[in-house]
Order: sequence, then structure tokens, then C-alpha cells
Amino acid sequence: MRAGCLAYSASVRTVLILGGTAEARELANRLSDVGVAVFTSLAGRTPAPRLPGGRVRVGGFGGPDGLAGWLRAEGVSLVVDATHPYAERMSAHAVLGCASAGVPLLRLDRPSWSDHPAAGSWRWVGDHAAAALEAAGLDPRHTGSVLLTIGRQNLPAYLATLADRTVLARVADDTGLDLPPRWRTLRLDPRSDLADELALFAAHDVTVLVTKDAGGRHTVAKLDAAAQRDVPVIVVRRPAPPPGVEIVTEIEQALDWCLRSDVI
Ligand code: NAP
Repeated sequence: MRAGCLAYSASVRTVLILGGTAEARELANRLSDVGVAVFTSLAGRTPAPRLPGGRVRVGGFGGPDGLAGWLRAEGVSLVVDATHPYAERMSAHAVLGCASAGVPLLRLDRPSWSDHPAAGSWRWVGDHAAAALEAAGLDPRHTGSVLLTIGRQNLPAYLATLADRTVLARVADDTGLDLPPRWRTLRLDPRSDLADELALFAAHDVTVLVTKDAGGRHTVAKLDAAAQRDVPVIVVRRPAPPPGVEIVTEIEQALDWCLRSDVI
């Protein structure tokens, strides 16, 4: 527990964390540890998510108005949007809902991978359709596998373009899709380290990696493995963050923002 936590807890109200990321979980745990009342909100896509400290609510709010109503009903004093960098709709709704309810909003956005030592050699594209075309143009003799680490929701954008390729789609849950015959799914193991990734690349002869700029340290090992094996990497750029919102990249900064805030 941090020094000074009793001073914070005396006037504590409630912080809502828009979650679904490891950072959101850690922030909720840290705030709970110092006596702040925390709600974490999850979209409900993952059947058995790892739960943070504090209270948890699951499911959409019903758009910005629904969020604003929920914030008022629960007497929420601060919102931290700690959703994944690609959860674009929720982040946009957070801006509108918080403005409407008059609740301060902070965006916790993990650092991009653009500073990775190999980032200069990656092929950066604007969307998944472009990534699929780029992947189709690499390894033209189709000797190896394309490893897709772009999330289950984005797989449909690759199905037609890579239908005749050997594809490994790494996903957290069932795809619910009818996949082409040479496609296989692999379960995402968030603990995979560099040795695991190198073994995977070798076992499946991965010759192309397609990914998003998820950022942070948890899933960066695949990029280190690609660099070591000289495998071309295609990265779908992040959506722009919503305008007009204060953004921090570190959990510690979000914690400070919550604890410094006048309304808590
Ligand atoms: P999205 O497209 O931005 O959001 C679609 C809708 O889902 C939102 O409008 C909202 O519904 C609901 N929603 C999303 N996140 C929510 C949350 N934390 N709490 C309550 N409702 C939420 O979101 P997404 O890309 O599908 O991501 C869904 C969740 O998975 C997020 O929590 C995100 O952090 C996590 N995640 C996403 C990715 C990714 O690559 N996109 C990767 C890892 C984890 P209403 O409009 O009804 O409020």
C-alpha cells in the first residue's frame, strides 16, 4: 500500500476504468490497494477474463448516452479509458459520454511499438485489407506460413485474399468462422516469451508476420522473434486517439492523475 493512502480514502468516490487490457487490470488493483473505489468495465467478449480488484461490470453501455446515464447513476467521479489501442468505438464513446455527464476523462494508451529496434524495417499499413494484400505479395512461392496476430474480429478481412495460403491465426477464443483448408488456429498464450515464439516460428516455418501496433511489453516477443529470423512484418497502424483527451502512456501516470484529482 502506498504512503498517504488514508488521505485519499477519506474523500473517495468512484473511478470507472474502461478495461479489457492488462494495464486496466493493474491500474484497478493499484487504485483498490490505496482505498479508491473502482469499477472496471469489460465488453464481455472473453468468456473467462482475468478479473481485477474492485467491482466489475460487463457489457456495453448502449452508446455515449448510455454511458453518461450510467456514470450519473453510479456517481462516478473520474473515468480512465484503458481499453486496447484498437478499441476505437469505445474510446470515442468515452469522450462523448464523459463530456455529457461532466466527468473528467483520461486515456491510458500503451506506448506504441514504433520505437522497437526493428520497426524501421516493418511494412506499416492503414487497415486490414491492405495488410492482407501486402501479405499475399510476400513469400510468392508460398513455402511457409503467414502468422496472423490481429485478433479474432479482424480475421474476415484476410479470408478471401489469403484463402490459398498456409495461415496460422493466433486468437484468444474460438473464431466461429469457416476457415479455408490450409488455415489453422492457435491459442494465444499471453505468457509466450522469445524462446516460445522462436520455437513457433521454426515449427511452422513462419515466413510472414501480420500484427497490430498493440504496444507494451506483454506480446512483443513475436516481433523480437521475427527480427531474429529475418521474417518480414506487416503492422496495421493504430487508429488516431480521440481528439481533446489527455493521454498518458504509463500506469503510474494514470494512478497519479486519479490520486491528484480534485474531485477525489
Ligand atoms: P470497440 O469496437 O471499440 O467497442 C464496441 C462496443 O463494445 C462499444 O461501443 C461498447 O458498447 C462495447 N465496449 C467495448 N469496450 C468496452 C468496455 N471496456 N466496457 C463496456 N463496453 C465496452 O471495442 P473492441 O475493439 O471490440 O474491444 C472490446 C474490448 O476488448 C475492449 O474492452 C478492449 O479493451 C478489449 N480488447 C480489444 C482488442 C482489440 O484489438 N480491439 C484487443 C484486446 C482487448 P456500447 O456502445 O454499447 O457501450
